[in-house]
Amino acid sequence: MYLKHLSLSGFKSFAKKSELEFSAPITAIVGPNGSGKSNVAESFRFVLGEQSLKSMRGKKGEDLIFGGSEAVSRGNRASVTLELDNSTKVFGVDFDNIVIERQVHRDGQNEYLINGSKVRLKDVQEMLAAANIGATGHHIISQGEADRILSANAKERREMIEDALGLKVYQYKKADAEKKLQKTKENIETVQSLRREVAPHMQFLERQIKKIERAVQLRGELTIVYCEYLRREDTYLAWHQDRLNKERLEPADKLKDLEDKLQEAKETLATHVKDVKSEELLSLEQSLKAVREKRQVLVRNSGQIEGQISYIDRRIKDIETRSNSESEAPIPVGEVKKFISNLEKIAEKGGQSEEVSLLKRTLSDIVHNANIFLKQILGNISINTDAEEKEKKDLIAKQAEALKDIAKCENEERKLSEEYELLRVSIEAEASESREAEREMFKIIGEQRECETKIMQIDSELSILERERDEFKRELQEAVTLLSRDVTQYYNFEIVVDGNKVSNAEIVKEERSVQYQRRRDLEKLKIRLEELGGVNKDIEKEYKDVKERDEFLLREIADLEASVEKLNDLIKELTEQLNGLFVAGIEKIGLEFNRFFTLMFGGGEAKLLRIKPKIKKTVRDDDSEEGEEMVVEEEDESAEEGIELDVKLPNKKVRGLDMLSGGERALTSIALIFAMSQVNPPLFIILDETDAALDEANSRRYGDMIEALAKKSQLILITHNRETMSRAGILYGVTMAADGVSKLLSVKFDDAVAVAKR
Ligand code: ATP
Repeated sequence: MYLKHLSLSGFKSFAKKSELEFSAPITAIVGPNGSGKSNVAESFRFVLGEQSLKSMRGKKGEDLIFGGSEAVSRGNRASVTLELDNSTKVFGVDFDNIVIERQVHRDGQNEYLINGSKVRLKDVQEMLAAANIGATGHHIISQGEADRILSANAKERREMIEDALGLKVYQYKKADAEKKLQKTKENIETVQSLRREVAPHMQFLERQIKKIERAVQLRGELTIVYCEYLRREDTYLAWHQDRLNKERLEPADKLKDLEDKLQEAKETLATHVKDVKSEELLSLEQSLKAVREKRQVLVRNSGQIEGQISYIDRRIKDIETRSNSESEAPIPVGEVKKFISNLEKIAEKGGQSEEVSLLKRTLSDIVHNANIFLKQILGNISINTDAEEKEKKDLIAKQAEALKDIAKCENEERKLSEEYELLRVSIEAEASESREAEREMFKIIGEQRECETKIMQIDSELSILERERDEFKRELQEAVTLLSRDVTQYYNFEIVVDGNKVSNAEIVKEERSVQYQRRRDLEKLKIRLEELGGVNKDIEKEYKDVKERDEFLLREIADLEASVEKLNDLIKELTEQLNGLFVAGIEKIGLEFNRFFTLMFGGGEAKLLRIKPKIKKTVRDDDSEEGEEMVVEEEDESAEEGIELDVKLPNKKVRGLDMLSGGERALTSIALIFAMSQVNPPLFIILDETDAALDEANSRRYGDMIEALAKKSQLILITHNRETMSRAGILYGVTMAADGVSKLLSVKFDDAVAVAKR
């Protein structure tokens, strides 16, 4: 016997502590109407965790607490304690004795205790479920409830039978699994909606990260391009600057030399001052000219003198000749013409000269010739030549003098000429020297120009390189700012073209335009990098967090989906088990039902039928010409089977529950309840006036069945039926005095009959 003891305190009409011992297989509780018997049955429901207040005839928690009467004040709480035997460990816990207590307070708060320890309702339910005791209590048949199994629909009936078969635990498990499944699906939806919520942001971050990745990649490319560019540029500039500086040395040195040479040339030129000498030359020239003129005059004089001497000589000769010839000889015309022709010749000759002395001499000759001619004409010719001899002597003296002067002049002229020549030669020599210096100077200046042009050219190239060097420095600075200090190691960068290392010699020889193109490419890369923006650590961190969270959510979904799968499997398995056990249980109950039924009614037939619920469907009526629609009922194949009863009373043709009288219905329901209890006997059964409608004969049959039932389950029977009382081992009487408080007392059978009838 599992039920040991029940204690009520403040529960409904049991204001005071009331206790019941259940030491016999059948305990009957008897008493007059309204004394509180059903309250005892409800106290069982209460302590076993019933949540439906309706099934305990209450609306709220405080309806279960003693509400007070005129004589006794109301209580603050109701408490029911049930002691169960667990020596067979039917409840799945270690204790031999289990004391379950439930209290309810006026505020509606409930407390559950197992062996004095506070527990949750769930703990109580789980423990009881292990022993097939459910709070819905198929084993507690309240007053008037026996009929419920007949009036219930197929689905409700199935639930009651499942409960009786102990399948509730599977149902619980299944419901639990379904609840979990539902919850899991909701969780999946929640997690998916979380993912959906975060998805646009994650896509945004993904795009940002891709940009960052591209930027990182681009930075890598840029670093390489930069290193190559910088190395080439530095090498090129250094080499060419060096080269130009060296090339500049030669013209610079030369220019310096030329500077000195030019100075020298200028100095040389400066020393060749010609003025003094030129003046000297000029004066010499004038002196020479004067001497020459003087000599010419002297020569002319001498010539005149000589002419005069010749004339005198001829005169002397004439005189001498005439003295020897006829003095009056005729003058031939030819002589006269000859004479005149002579004069003309002399005049013509003299007229050609502008010199006065010559003119004078011409005139003198003319006069002289005329005299001679006259003398010839007149014949008055003197033969005396003394005067002429004297004149000749004077003239010879004069000529000697003149010749002396001429000789002096010639001497002086020669000296002056020599001096002049020397000076001229000297001046000419100096002029040539100066021209040489000049030529030299112009040559130097020319060379200077050349050198300067060359230097200018080199300087211009150098200044270009200088500018490019500045540009290079700026570029290097920019590269460091943009990338990192790593680029400063560009000189270690190995340039490889077509698999071959590029040497410095090749670098410096390269066309400049190629490097300029490289620079343009570099700029393009920088712009692209700028467009991509910088590396944002916050974005990376955020993306990492969001991604991790998304992955976590994905794992969650995967876990949840795995759970869904497992739960579906579990539900399927439970459903199969349930169905299997249900079908098997129904068969057994069906047999028992038929046995009890025929026993009760002394014949007839009772069956349990498994049926699918019907659903209404609208279909086309094929017989109708207009194609009308009609409503038909079909079995819902997907739905769970329900249970219908098919009963046939002995000696009656009618079948079905609707045809039964009240007593017949009571017997039928009792037969079914007993059949259910036989198949899976509960630890105890409480039947509250199930026997109320039975006549004497049926009461006996009922009593027999109770005794049979008591072999498998402990029975607590609330009854007014004498027959039933007679089968009980223990009898409790419940009374209620004017104070409205129920009291319990153990009574003897006869007393019980008396109490029940009171
Ligand atoms: P019957 O034989 O007619 O079925 P019964 O013996 O089963 O009667 P119950 O229905 O158990 O009687 O008891 C009903 C009595 O309990 C009523 O008198 C009712 O006033 C009383 N009662 C119910 N709830 C409370 C409560 N909270 N406080 C006080 N009395 C209560």
